[in-house]
Amino acid sequence: MARVALVTGGSRGIGAAISKALKDAGYTVAANYAGNDEAAAKFTAETGIQTYKWSVADYEACKAGIAAVEADLGPVDILVNNAGITRDAMFHRMTPEQWREVLDTNLSGLFNMTHPLWPGMRERKFGRVISISSINGQKGQMGQANYSAAKAGDIGFTKALAQEGARAGITVNAICPGYIATDMVMAVPEKVRESIIAQIPVGRLGEPEEIARCVVFLASDDSGFITGSTLTSNGGQYLA
Ligand code: NDP
Repeated sequence: MARVALVTGGSRGIGAAISKALKDAGYTVAANYAGNDEAAAKFTAETGIQTYKWSVADYEACKAGIAAVEADLGPVDILVNNAGITRDAMFHRMTPEQWREVLDTNLSGLFNMTHPLWPGMRERKFGRVISISSINGQKGQMGQANYSAAKAGDIGFTKALAQEGARAGITVNAICPGYIATDMVMAVPEKVRESIIAQIPVGRLGEPEEIARCVVFLASDDSGFITGSTLTSNGGQYLA
């Protein structure tokens, strides 16, 4: 039977590309999303991938959502923690709410999703936890103290959990994309986007599919000796 993969934020942007690539690679895929029903319905119509709505920032909602996915599709062996948000502001203007929202989704979301799935992965002696961090968690980014802190936290989470999962056949890895052409980046004013592209040695934004292919590799049996690692895919912008 095909392994089941659950992708958070899996109906738009990088997550949608990941969901599709995992489906093409033969996995049974469930895509979670937060609130954009229209995008989720369109995604399901186009791909046949089932979508499930809950917030990764809410631990009880994650438990209930995962239970629904597992009742429909079977035990989840591959978790892709992709859901993420930005609430950018220079630090002197950043509100406690902007801090909390980003930390709750981009960092606590990893705990909320991985914790309920962990016992099953340990019992079955197989698991893949793949989390989408960011170049800005590696190098820091002005205007993103909240986002950079959360994304750096994702890498620490990955390294710690990799050690706990190793003997149980669970690998835990992070991917750090550079700037990728999704709604998140296209929402940035064009002038700023041009200045970002000027800093990327390959001279272009990345494509969501380029991150999806990294996920497919880390989900596969071929990657069983890779754990606790950070795979950077950023066009040479930051050499981590
Ligand atoms: P998008 O804004 O295009 O999509 C974000 C997805 O996450 C949506 O599906 C959204 O759901 C979902 N989401 C947001 N909050 C929650 C939540 N609380 N619970 C469940 N789902 C949620 O983002 P990208 O595709 O650009 O980014 C995907 C990931 O990659 C993020 O973690 C981001 O930080 C990271 N990243 C992105 C980069 C880029 O250049 N784009 C660079 C480096 C990292 P809904 O559709 O319902 O709104």
